[in-house]
Amino acid sequence: MLKGTKLKDYPHAQKRRLFLEKTLGINLSGLGEFSFAEDAVRNKNIENLVGATQIPMGVAGPILVNGQFARGEFYLPLATTEGALVASVSRGCKAISRSGGVTVLVENVGTTRAPVFQTKGISESKKLIKWVENNFSALQKVAENSSSHLKLLNFKPYFMGRNVWLRLNFDTADAMGMNMATTAATLIIRIIEVKTGCKCVSVSGNLDVDKKPSWINFLEGRGKKVWAEAVISREIAQEVLKTTPDKMVETSRAKVLYGSILSGSLGFNSHFANIIAALFAATGQDLAHITEGSLGVTTTEISDKDLYISIYLPDLMIGTVGGGTGLPAQKEALSLLKIPDPSLKSGQQVLKLAEIIGSAVLAGELSLLGALAAGQLASAHEKLGRGRMHTDISGLKADVNR
Ligand code: NAP
Repeated sequence: MLKGTKLKDYPHAQKRRLFLEKTLGINLSGLGEFSFAEDAVRNKNIENLVGATQIPMGVAGPILVNGQFARGEFYLPLATTEGALVASVSRGCKAISRSGGVTVLVENVGTTRAPVFQTKGISESKKLIKWVENNFSALQKVAENSSSHLKLLNFKPYFMGRNVWLRLNFDTADAMGMNMATTAATLIIRIIEVKTGCKCVSVSGNLDVDKKPSWINFLEGRGKKVWAEAVISREIAQEVLKTTPDKMVETSRAKVLYGSILSGSLGFNSHFANIIAALFAATGQDLAHITEGSLGVTTTEISDKDLYISIYLPDLMIGTVGGGTGLPAQKEALSLLKIPDPSLKSGQQVLKLAEIIGSAVLAGELSLLGALAAGQLASAHEKLGRGRMHTDISGLKADVNR
């Protein structure tokens, strides 16, 4: 604190840091360096602000994307503390781009909210569902009054004993939409309570399913579904990935398929979470949705001696407006991807982001499967992540039976 200055003269975050530094006898100067205005995040993104934690951001790529909304070469903003990740994704981008690029498709599934209602029993549960079916267009109008960008698309009912869940599904245009969907669901709940006499127990009944890995989201999809594929020639696999398509397919079968089956994994992939987390952190997505974004499947096959590789992301909860996407650094990361894109309409910006994320995930899968097939995972991490080698056994004199 400067001489003559009183605590009340400091902005809120600095005041809290000074208090914590004094109380705990620690130094928080690193937390005090950030590029956003306190007022921009207060009461919107954070409470009790003390500063910002920084994650190093690198770029991978460029990657050539052949999508409907994302077309051309893109540099991928990846925020991570895992050494070797950016280099690995870059290597995948190189192999894909040299092979003609990623083909990618996106489907806008919708943002779900699933309130749970209490009834007197299964007959009343059925009656409640019937009422919602009969009055659905009126409920759509109620929902759409809450926002100029939201539409109630459909709903799926579930009931069990005295509980009814309505999995309401909203189109929220370019926003991830969880706030918008919750507001619209709350209005719908009020109407249903008045008209049916059934009380809502919780606006979220865990059938949404928000921020938890789940089979229902895997099967039905949530947010955006993305499919991406590429064919990598035998020569490019050898040159860039230092392995062969056959070894990669064999590795993928043992790891992605058999290993995932045996472990009861909810995803059949190598490391979707790595790329999803790094892109989400860089572009201001809600980080808890990494749990859902990491669901999905990688497939590999031999195609005329070349490698066919694809990924499927069923549950990508993302936005290009709202949440953390408007913060200065996050906005700049989105601008690397040319988002917002003036050639696209409202609701299409987020589809472009989804296609780029799908492409990046494919690059990450390709590179890691290549490194595993070539037996290079540990050495790459040691060289790039730790700056020293442990797994070079050429000079090791261990007592090992041959
Ligand atoms: P939001 O920032 O609350 O709302 C998005 C806003 O952007 C809306 O007000 C919308 O306007 C406006 N908008 C402007 N242009 C738009 C466009 N092209 N497409 C869509 N909207 C546009 O964001 P959100 O996506 O609904 O919610 C994200 C936040 O919810 C995150 O911070 C997340 O952490 C949080 N979250 C909330 C819950 C919850 O239960 N409430 C759960 C999980 C996460 P109009 O609506 O006025 O048209």
